[in-house]
Order: sequence, then structure tokens, then C-alpha cells
Amino acid sequence: MKSAADRKGGGKGLIRSTNRRGSRSDMSPPVTRKAAYRDPSVCDRCGAVYSNKTWRRGRSLPPALASAADWVHCPGCAQAESQDEYYGRVLVEVPEGAGPREEIIARISNVEKRAKANQPERQVVSCTWEGDQLTVLTTSQKLAHRIVNELAKAFGGKPRFAWSDEDGTLFARLTVGKKAGRRKSK
Ligand SMILES: [Zn+2]
Repeated sequence: MKSAADRKGGGKGLIRSTNRRGSRSDMSPPVTRKAAYRDPSVCDRCGAVYSNKTWRRGRSLPPALASAADWVHCPGCAQAESQDEYYGRVLVEVPEGAGPREEIIARISNVEKRAKANQPERQVVSCTWEGDQLTVLTTSQKLAHRIVNELAKAFGGKPRFAWSDEDGTLFARLTVGKKAGRRKSK
């Protein structure tokens, strides 16, 4: 399987700048990070708070907690940094005239924001345009699933999902603008 991370991206429409040096070097199944965090811990990057075995975001940070907490990187941020692990891959084909790309990126950004409010570890690792194809890598299969469904709802098209035999990641595809049931057979 060709790793999406290996592809050269145009750098257009990046949600966040990414470091593309890292690529999935082997096809071993994604390993769930079971790092032990002290309670409380706070993510140095996104501000998520770890308490009662759960990462939460969007709460206020009491000064006492800030000084008592371990400052760490939450699983999502650690993954986004390493750039070599993702669990969800979304491939969106956007035919000419199917809709403004900025809107598609904005929609993805929105879905991510909502997901992160409750589950900070659910993040978009990268968004890369290559011609009329957009590849989105996520730290969460559920997030990939949600992104494709939201895009289909907003822009049309019929989502397709498959788990990769090789690495267990979820591969979600959508050709924007195609009506359901009118898929071209290959
Ligand atoms: Zn974080």
C-alpha cells in the first residue's frame, strides 16, 4: 500500500503545518499508546486536562491545578507530532466545479473542533491536496468516519469505507458531488 504520508503534497489548504519527513516505516498495526499519565496532567500543546483516566478539553485551568499538574503531551498531540501514526485516512475527490476547496477544509476543521472538544486525542494530523484529491489523516477512525459523512451531507456523494488489511487503519473515500447510487463502476 502506498502510504499517503509519502505523497508529496502541494501544501495548499493545510489545516496546520505538518512535518512530512516522517512516514510510516513499517506496516505493523497501529499501537495504542498506553502511556501512564499522572493525575492531574495538562497537555502542553492543546491544554487538555487529564484526570480520572480521561482527557478533557475546554475546561478552565485553575491556578492550583496548573502548578500541581504534570505538563505532558496528550496522546493526540504526541501523535500529531510524530507524524508517523494515524488510524484514519480520508480520500476526497473533488471534481472541477464540485465546490470551493476552502469550504471543504473549513468543514473538516469544524468537525475536528467539535470532536476535540470532548476527545482531545481525536485530531486531524494533516490535510494534503494533490491535484483534485484531498488526503486527510486522522488520529481516530471515528473522526475519519465522521469527516466523510459530514462532507457527503454538505457536498453530496456516497461515502465508502474499508479497513486496510495491512495496517488496520480505516480508509474512507468520497467523491464529492456524486449522487448516491450513481457510482461509476470500475
Ligand atoms: Zn494535546
